[in-house]
Amino acid sequence: MVEPIDILNKAEEILGYSKNLKGLRAIVTAGPTHEPLDPVRFLGNHSSGKQGYAIATALHKAGADVTLISGPTSLPDPAHIKTTRVQSAKDMHQAVQDHLPADIFIGAAAVADWQLAKPLTQKHKKDNDTWTLNLTQTPDILKHVAQLPKSERPKVVVGFALESHDAINNARDKLNRKGADALLINAINETHNPFNASSNHLHWLDHAHIDDWGNASKDAHALRITNEISRLIKGDI
Ligand code: C5P
Repeated sequence: MVEPIDILNKAEEILGYSKNLKGLRAIVTAGPTHEPLDPVRFLGNHSSGKQGYAIATALHKAGADVTLISGPTSLPDPAHIKTTRVQSAKDMHQAVQDHLPADIFIGAAAVADWQLAKPLTQKHKKDNDTWTLNLTQTPDILKHVAQLPKSERPKVVVGFALESHDAINNARDKLNRKGADALLINAINETHNPFNASSNHLHWLDHAHIDDWGNASKDAHALRITNEISRLIKGDI
């Protein structure tokens, strides 16, 4: 029995791959983004970054040259992986663009969907009972990368879909709308919340099939995601 903590170290033994992503460049986004409202407040979410960091580590173990672009998390930079820290979706998007081209792009970040176009430069005072915010959408990083011209697009683009209802159908729409090659679907409901947990129930969805991977540690899922990426990159779907 392999303890979750050891699982990444035993990656090659478990999955039988041996540096099969050697020579390939990968970019992984992870964690939440924080969208500033004023100098002290932000809009954000509960993402811990654990799944994205585990994916970056698994890709590194498989031989890829990995850049991790992380929103604010309490996790240390993973060993041997170039890690760029950002705060907002706009900064994450810029960092991704700065690090392209790549062969593999994994959008594991829980990017905030809404931002204040012009954050206040001074702390908003409690002069009124309400504060009305006019929010605009953040740049969709995954969609932008997936829809780059063929010569610039990573060969494999994978994202995540967090769905609270009708998960599979919503994720299918999302896969097509974003133009990604695959999505990992995680459900969020009264009985299952993947935020901050060390395990998660995932489904793999690509344009050919859907697969229920069940509940497993985020490290174990990261190995399986790496295996699927190897399969997609070799084009043998
Ligand atoms: O649209 P939605 O947020 O449900 O899509 C989730 C996927 O899209 C994740 O892979 C996330 O990293 C990515 N995403 C992004 N930029 C956004 C919103 C989501 O890259 N602004």
